Amino acid sequence: MRKKLAADGLPSLIGADRAGLAAVLGELGEPEGKRSLRARQLFHWIYHRGARSFDEMTTLSKDLRAKLAEQFSVARPEIVVEQQSSDGTRKWLLRFFDGQEVECVFIPQTDRGALCVSTQVGCTLTCKFCHTGTMPLVRNLQAGEILAQLLVARDALGEWPSPRDDRLFTNIVVMGMGEPLFNYDGIAAAMKLATDGDGIGMSRHKITLSTSGVVPRIVQWGEELGTGLAISLHAVRDDLRDELVPVNRKWKIAELLDACRAYPHRNKPITFEYVMLAGVNDSDADARELVRLLQGMPAKVNLIPFNPWPGTIYQCSSNNRIRAFAQIVEDAGYSSPVRVPRGRDILAACGQLKTASERARVRGNLASARAEAALH
Ligand code: SAH
Ligand code: SF4
Repeated sequence: MRKKLAADGLPSLIGADRAGLAAVLGELGEPEGKRSLRARQLFHWIYHRGARSFDEMTTLSKDLRAKLAEQFSVARPEIVVEQQSSDGTRKWLLRFFDGQEVECVFIPQTDRGALCVSTQVGCTLTCKFCHTGTMPLVRNLQAGEILAQLLVARDALGEWPSPRDDRLFTNIVVMGMGEPLFNYDGIAAAMKLATDGDGIGMSRHKITLSTSGVVPRIVQWGEELGTGLAISLHAVRDDLRDELVPVNRKWKIAELLDACRAYPHRNKPITFEYVMLAGVNDSDADARELVRLLQGMPAKVNLIPFNPWPGTIYQCSSNNRIRAFAQIVEDAGYSSPVRVPRGRDILAACGQLKTASERARVRGNLASARAEAALH
């Protein structure tokens, strides 16, 4: 508990579950008989009401509030930059206690919206078409740092106390920076808290975790968390996938698909993400092989137009090519939506997160990164 520092330098309670909160109360001398009730009250204030200070927690005694405030924090990470795209997408650059930063993105639609959360600073992996994969520095985010992204979005949307109906923030996509299944404990603890009905109260059916293919963790995730699953497939042959998605050198396509077949579906199809790279993975033959691989599996294919970033060697497939590819997949009976890029003008689209803002700040000019992105 004491290691998880908030931006104000005090240990943060964000990310603590009821048992963790009870332990904190024990440290502060709360009598044993009262700890579990007080822990439930604290839990309610932090995750249901979204309290940003202990002062607000009026069901706790003044004395206890003062002790909590002296030694602990419920402060959010520092918001370094907040941007809004012309399409309504919002992006926050957050800084944690050690100066490390991540981005998270809120993507609104008419009556709902999804928050795209990050799980690592940088990424353990180096997929060749992904901007995040070029970042040298990597550390796992703690559960509280993942959860804090949800709290920041709720703050900005004014959605406290956790609304039951009419909320705009309805979905979570674990598709930001990082490979979530290489930070299994962090993301699992965060999503358990996010789905707790006494707190943030998100439905696990409205959460989708995307993995590049950490095979040994896939079924475990399905059993423990049971959220929707998305797989970053991107290639249908091992030789090409080895190159594009290096984790494939360890776990091959066949093993990955076996894990998908064993995933506890609960009737929800698995989404296969497929980035469209001109002349690399976008031929008719690729589409036909994709259909063959998915045979017999409840699946949907999400075609992602490649989002360019400064320095990349790839180009996005043409619209005609994407349409032809999608048609082959659709004809085989799989839905094959093309993901509309959101927030490209603020480098918030898939695979564009973080490095650009880092570079731009070195140059002291965020606008130049935006302009650079707009040129593509
Ligand atoms: N790290 C996780 C989730 C994050 S990214 C994963 O790899 O699954 C969400 C999706 O965007 C992934 O399918 C990822 O491969 C894809 N992506 C990465 N860079 C991209 C880019 N430049 N253009 C389009 N999609 C990209
Ligand atoms: Fe990491 Fe996902 Fe980017 Fe690959 S695509 S480098 S796994 S963030």
